[in-house]
Amino acid sequence: MKEKYDVVIIGSGMGGLVAANIMAREGLSVCVLEKNNQFGGNLQTFVRDRTIFDTGVHYIGGLAPGQNLYRYFDYPGILEGLHLKKMNRDGFDIITFDNDEVAYPHAQGYDNFIDQLAKQFPQERKAIESYCKKLREICHKFPLYNLEEGKPYGNDPELFQQSAKDYIDSITQNEKLRAVLAGSNLLYAGDPDKTPLYVHALSINSYIESAYRCADGGSQITKLLVRRLKENGGEVYKHSEVTHMTCVDRKLESVTIKDGRKVTGDIFISNIEPKHTLRMIGEEHFRKSYNRRIQDMESIISAFSIHIVLKPKTFKYLNKNYYHFKDYRKVWDAHKYTEETWPETYMVSMGVRKNQDEWGEQLTAITYMRYEEVKEWENTFNTVAQTSDRGKSYEEFKSYKTELFLRELEKKFPNIRECIQSVYASTPYPIGII
Ligand SMILES: Cc1cc2nc3c(=O)[nH]c(=O)nc-3n(C[C@H](O)[C@H](O)[C@H](O)COP(=O)(O)OP(=O)(O)OC[C@H]3O[C@@H](n4cnc5c(N)ncnc54)[C@H](O)[C@@H]3O)c2cc1C
Repeated sequence: MKEKYDVVIIGSGMGGLVAANIMAREGLSVCVLEKNNQFGGNLQTFVRDRTIFDTGVHYIGGLAPGQNLYRYFDYPGILEGLHLKKMNRDGFDIITFDNDEVAYPHAQGYDNFIDQLAKQFPQERKAIESYCKKLREICHKFPLYNLEEGKPYGNDPELFQQSAKDYIDSITQNEKLRAVLAGSNLLYAGDPDKTPLYVHALSINSYIESAYRCADGGSQITKLLVRRLKENGGEVYKHSEVTHMTCVDRKLESVTIKDGRKVTGDIFISNIEPKHTLRMIGEEHFRKSYNRRIQDMESIISAFSIHIVLKPKTFKYLNKNYYHFKDYRKVWDAHKYTEETWPETYMVSMGVRKNQDEWGEQLTAITYMRYEEVKEWENTFNTVAQTSDRGKSYEEFKSYKTELFLRELEKKFPNIRECIQSVYASTPYPIGII
């Protein structure tokens, strides 16, 4: 590691690595610092019983030529090496509800999306059409989303005010259709009072354009981004947690890594949680109002996941995700669960292999969980680099929640228990501790 770079990037998530690639291709000297043992942040994978699981990214959208993510991946030159599996054209996401046998599809391609949903809601074709038109209109207003010049977040102040729930409610009186259109809101932890329509639009549009799984996990994206970065002279370091940032004359001058090393730079990009960034720089270097705005930002609700290794040849591979809700009238409120009602919703996604046959190897199910539920263990660790015993109470908590979750899954997949070879759970973690 050199002492000085043109650009220092903190965090090797997708954002940090793409930024690093762009800067390195422009001829700048770039250094990416990552605290963990694996690069990629939420693109990391892990292995249980020789089976690969994704931590975050389970499917990606907009990867056909000309579409949003295609262009972002084309520029650093990682498209060619990617092994992708296109999800079901007529239903990549399936929205379902308790006490309703119908599987409501979100299909790929806008015309197809309308046709497939109109089969279930023939009276509502016009509402579905105007929903699709609106999503595309909104996405066109974000220059950065389309890799065009202009203000990154667009010029239209109304865009930031319209709520996703209010808009969806305004286009139809049909409560089931409203629930279906909002059905994948676990993707962005949708909240009826807070989630703007543009967040919904930017998330959903790319999947409707085209939806894919990464064969053998999303970490292949990381590997390719790191490889291309190095080819362009960039550097990337693991086990390099930034713990302090030093300002001189109101200019950020260097960052300090946990082991004491200092890295100086002209430009710094922090690809980590903003509150944490401000604390490391020192709040005195920012305007009070700015500090308050950042510190007052509420963290969104977290997730509890179970990762199931399936017995060989017992459970068919599903080339689609399920988003399930107990109550279709509560799609925007499923995060307001109580101990008795948890889990009120879940998403099920299956990993795919490069040589995928008809049988699935693994399945992940994700639901909401508030961080407070695991707060008592907040000073414990479980990473490759560091582990501390979380004790029996933590294991009991996980087993109890896993059992409750499995009981819900059994309602949709009645034979699932017989197919389980082993099951692992992951609980929410606070930013910066893991
Ligand atoms: C459960 C879950 C499921 C998801 N599913 C999908 C999906 O199916 N499809 C999809 O497109 N998106 C999905 N997402 C969202 C997607 O994973 C993220 O939006 C994306 O990966 C975030 O990338 P990032 O670069 O912003 O940050 P991160 O991935 O959060 O990367 C930040 C990096 O910074 C590192 N870091 C933190 N602090 C420091 C420090 N002090 N010093 C050095 N390094 C530090 C971290 O270790 C991490 O590697 C999901 C997210 C979650 C949590």
